[in-house]
Amino acid sequence: MERACLNCNEKIEGRIDKIYCSTYCKSSYHYKIKKKKTVTRFKEVNEQLKINRSILKHFHTTGKTIMRKEELFKKGFNPNFFTNYWKNSKNDIYLFCYEYGYLSLKEANKEKYLLINWQPYMQ
Ligand SMILES: [Zn+2]
Repeated sequence: MERACLNCNEKIEGRIDKIYCSTYCKSSYHYKIKKKKTVTRFKEVNEQLKINRSILKHFHTTGKTIMRKEELFKKGFNPNFFTNYWKNSKNDIYLFCYEYGYLSLKEANKEKYLLINWQPYMQ
C-alpha cells in the first residue's frame, strides 16, 4: 500500500509505521498543530470575554446592580474569564471584563454578584 507523508503528501519509503517522509516534516507538522491549537485557544478566550462583557452590559443598567449569579450563568457567563481586577480599600476584589466589573457576594444565603462600571480611579 502506498503511504503519503502527513505533512507534505510525498510518498513515504521504508518502515510501514512511518507517517512522515523526514524528521523535518515530522517537526513541521507538530509545529503546525501546536500553532493551530494556540490560535483556537486565543479565539476561545476572546469569545468568552465578549460573551461575558455583553451579559454584564445587558444586566448592568445604572449605578450598582445586585443580582443572582445563576441569572448570569444561565446566559453563558463564565466568571473565570476576565480582563483585569481591582481591589478596593476593604480588600474586596472586583473582576472586570473590560469596562464592566463584578464582585462575588452572599446576600440572604444566596450567591450574588454586584455589578459595577469601571472608573478611572480603578487604574
Ligand atoms: Zn514529508
